[in-house]
Amino acid sequence: MTLADRKANARRLLDAKRIVVKIGSALLVDAQMGRLNRTWLESLAADVARMRKRSQEVILVSSGAIALGRRHLGLSRGKLKLEESQAAAAVGQIRLAHAYKELLEHHDIAVAQILLTLGDTEQRRRYLNARGTINTLLSLGAVPVINENDTVATAEIRYGDNDRLAARVAQMAGADCLVLLSDIDGLYTANPALDPDAQFIAKVLEITPEIEAMAGGSGSDMGSGGMQTKIAAGKIAVGAGCYMCIAKGAHSHPLKAIEEGGRCTWFVPHSTPVATRKQWIAGALRPAGAIGVDAGAVSALMSGKSLLPAGVTGTIGRFERGDTVSVLAPDGTEFARGISAYSDSDAARIMGRKSLDIEAALGFRGRDEMIHRDDLVLLKTLP
Ligand code: GLU
Repeated sequence: MTLADRKANARRLLDAKRIVVKIGSALLVDAQMGRLNRTWLESLAADVARMRKRSQEVILVSSGAIALGRRHLGLSRGKLKLEESQAAAAVGQIRLAHAYKELLEHHDIAVAQILLTLGDTEQRRRYLNARGTINTLLSLGAVPVINENDTVATAEIRYGDNDRLAARVAQMAGADCLVLLSDIDGLYTANPALDPDAQFIAKVLEITPEIEAMAGGSGSDMGSGGMQTKIAAGKIAVGAGCYMCIAKGAHSHPLKAIEEGGRCTWFVPHSTPVATRKQWIAGALRPAGAIGVDAGAVSALMSGKSLLPAGVTGTIGRFERGDTVSVLAPDGTEFARGISAYSDSDAARIMGRKSLDIEAALGFRGRDEMIHRDDLVLLKTLP
């Protein structure tokens, strides 16, 4: 890699606004003793604190619950039964969360634990709720520490590996950079542990079948991810307009090492998270329904604002919270599309009202906006 390449790599992390860092079990937990690698975690916490000082938002997706918990339950080495993993996760997750809380609090950073299951990222309604919580935490300066909710996730409803979970989180949060800290420093043309001719790949511009073929199986029995799950994560991240980096995490200050141009593989997206999201909204084949708005709302939307219930004049069709809907001007022209924060029936109950009156009308305190501006795309400019 040339010096210019190294600098460009470093900038990707330094310039990112919202970063998801995935931390694998093998880094956090000592393989022999099953204990937390505290000194390592301290160095990571210092890296995160530096990012926060630069006003970067950080989300950690951390594995390690099962690896930590199994020792405390005296479970033998090797593959665990599903119930044993779940029991180990229940014991280990407390310890994991406690360690993050303690070490990040030294830097005056509030830590928030979020445990997700597959449904939370795959079902629209739950996806919106999880996304809302993550956004709120980040805006308040907290660092969410996320893991799969292993105690309730059974085989068929699990991610099973935190590489893909981290990519889904990056997508959901609209992150512009995902770092997978791993026990290997990046992608090789073959498994470097087995093949001395394996070549390091610094940059992936397209995840081709050849790239996929380079990924072998998982190398350790600590976590579940191997190169295959990292490539799968790359597809999700890049598809969401997010850069992804696979970097070695075993040394101390692993994020600082990337900022200093350390060796790692970057997966490069072709778009940005916002553009990708907006393309997806604009490209909805059949919007579930439509929302009619008044002239005041048309000009508010044209100037980049959110759609508030006060500007809504009616709804057409049946839609749920999280569905893509058309936005119609008073003359019926579809001029925008967006993701509705309310179902058609709730929208009908709050239309024309002030955001403050939502609770009285619905019996619950919903979102202030009918369609948030981040979830809205203008299709044409109206006079
Ligand atoms: N969620 C699992 C844990 O915390 C780890 C999954 C993985 O290895 O990627 O132990």
